[in-house]
Amino acid sequence: MKFQSEYRDPVAAQKLLQAIARTATRPWTIMEVCGGQTHTIVKYGIDELLPPQVELVHGPGCPVCVTPLELIDQAIAIAARPDVIFCSFGDMLRVPGSRTDLFATKAAGGDVRIVYSPLDCLAIAEKNPEKTIVFFAVGFETTAPANAMAVWQAKRRGIENFAVLVSHVLVPPAMTAILSSPTNRVQGFLGAGHVCSVVGYEEYEPLAQRFQIPIVVTGFEPLDLLEGIYRCVRMLEAGRIGVDNQYARAVQRSGNPGAMQLINDVFETTDRKWRGIGVIPASGFRLRPEYQAYDAQRRFQVHQLQVLESDECISGVILQGVKKPKECPAFGKTCTPEHPLGATMVSSEGACAAYYNYGRYRSSQTTNV
Ligand code: SF4
Repeated sequence: MKFQSEYRDPVAAQKLLQAIARTATRPWTIMEVCGGQTHTIVKYGIDELLPPQVELVHGPGCPVCVTPLELIDQAIAIAARPDVIFCSFGDMLRVPGSRTDLFATKAAGGDVRIVYSPLDCLAIAEKNPEKTIVFFAVGFETTAPANAMAVWQAKRRGIENFAVLVSHVLVPPAMTAILSSPTNRVQGFLGAGHVCSVVGYEEYEPLAQRFQIPIVVTGFEPLDLLEGIYRCVRMLEAGRIGVDNQYARAVQRSGNPGAMQLINDVFETTDRKWRGIGVIPASGFRLRPEYQAYDAQRRFQVHQLQVLESDECISGVILQGVKKPKECPAFGKTCTPEHPLGATMVSSEGACAAYYNYGRYRSSQTTNV
């Protein structure tokens, strides 16, 4: 397939692997930030093809995984209301809350719908004036422009029966939190290409200087990742700090100015809780005061729900690159994609789910025998 098969060419992959092996003379630990990158790495076994001195650890870049349990419970509480049509991308529907999930809420009579764009919600709102349409606005910087556009258009078109339950998180503050941790072992980053296609990578440059690390903005196909790793290893070996852009076919240094203008018109930064990690300062978006009429949390007063996380789950340290999924005693035993106990098993982009779905569960069983 054009624009896909050329990024999965096995001969080119082999050459990049050989170049990485020739270049790496010492142990290096590199974190990929994005869940889509984790998915590709584990699916194609890239981490196992690398020379032993290059270790990949998996970062907190799966938006479904880092959405706090409180938000899931709030979504379920809103979706169960008879005066609401609750809309979401499909991957949030099976994420378990404290007691149930959105699929079960739908089965119990809640009007829960899967949409492919937040803008679909405006059409639903116009057809159902007696209901409030709530969109679950989850994601990193990548999904923020479309969510901002839905709110901006709702205000402009005078659609009042629409609201968003906002759970937007931002990558650079999470990288700062990881690099500031006393347990940090990350020496270089593969930056999330899709996020940078919106916001660019200017913000990463002071981060690289502050922590004296290389950051390589990287795409999502196997050859993107191998080239990103190769560039990162070369920078590490040369002691070069700064930001490099492997994903130049989609990312410009200053990002997408139109998308960023829209985000800044509708959202402002706020402290956000990340599931498994905790509160990270200035790490998320909330609606600006002039758009607060569209805030589902304010409209439905669902802030105070109490939640209980599994105490078996070590997803917090997995999301910070300190441990791997197979090091969790519950992995593949009491915790599976069908019965997830924690953040990183709930989405196919979560590190635990990726390890499980691509057979690392079976290989860990074999190793243990
Ligand atoms: S395997 Fe399950 S319990 Fe263990 S860290 Fe991953 S999500 Fe948490």
